[in-house]
Amino acid sequence: MTADPSTGDAARTAVVTGAASGIGRATALRLLYEGCDVLAVDRDPAGLTDLAAEGCRTLVADLSSAQGRDRVVESAVGASLLVNSAGIIRLKPILDVCIDDLRDVYAVNVEAVWDLTSRIGRAMPPGGAIVNLSSSSAKLATTVEAAVYASSKAAVLSLTRSFAYAFAPHVRVNAICPGIIDTAMQDAVLAQVGAARGIPVAELSEARTAAVPLGRAATADECAGVIAFLLSDAAGYMTGQAINYTGGLVTW
Ligand code: NAD
Repeated sequence: MTADPSTGDAARTAVVTGAASGIGRATALRLLYEGCDVLAVDRDPAGLTDLAAEGCRTLVADLSSAQGRDRVVESAVGASLLVNSAGIIRLKPILDVCIDDLRDVYAVNVEAVWDLTSRIGRAMPPGGAIVNLSSSSAKLATTVEAAVYASSKAAVLSLTRSFAYAFAPHVRVNAICPGIIDTAMQDAVLAQVGAARGIPVAELSEARTAAVPLGRAATADECAGVIAFLLSDAAGYMTGQAINYTGGLVTW
């Protein structure tokens, strides 16, 4: 996947969205350290500052808008790797959800993933690879707080499979379904769910990890390792797959 001094291969260009935080950030840094030329994309300029200092190219863009996505596609010329990690969650009981809630979440979690996968993927050279961030919640019924998010992540699984077929055999497209990864998004979920249910955050966090067979959350760096594997030649015979990354919480 990376520049190989023995063969003189050029460094590969990777586009990573959601790179200002969490899994996207860890993935951008991992790919950078592996020798890729990394374009780190996010709507949050402050979160990109130190990635620029590390050596990433950075682009501030709001992926919920067509203009923002156009700017990413224009800057992605030559890319052979793409990680769609930007995502949002809005927590609300399913029967309170209105159509604008759905559109807000889908604009980032589905439209942007579809659009960037389609436009950047079709321009990739043979050997290109894409990883989309789905979620274990794509496979579970979550009527209490996260139904819109869960349905958006189920859409990511479906579009991953379809683009895998569309781009085969030249470009591979896979997804990862994380369970509990220690990031700002996870902190926000715990705070909001804890407040809604009247449960202290520490208690809620403990109850969630107690349900995980491996007994803990994962770090963003660990998750980035699996994403890097899916992008690498070691996964060269994998496309259209969704890897559970849940510590055993979800096994199907
Ligand atoms: P995070 O909140 O730490 O990072 C998400 C990043 O996406 C942020 O930097 C944010 O600014 C960016 N972003 C959001 N909307 C954007 C927009 N419109 N335009 C550009 N950038 C935007 O979240 P994370 O935990 O690192 O999650 C990364 C991905 O993994 C998400 O798609 C999330 O749904 C998925 N995921 C996370 C977990 C978890 O436990 N953390 C579990 C399952 C799936």
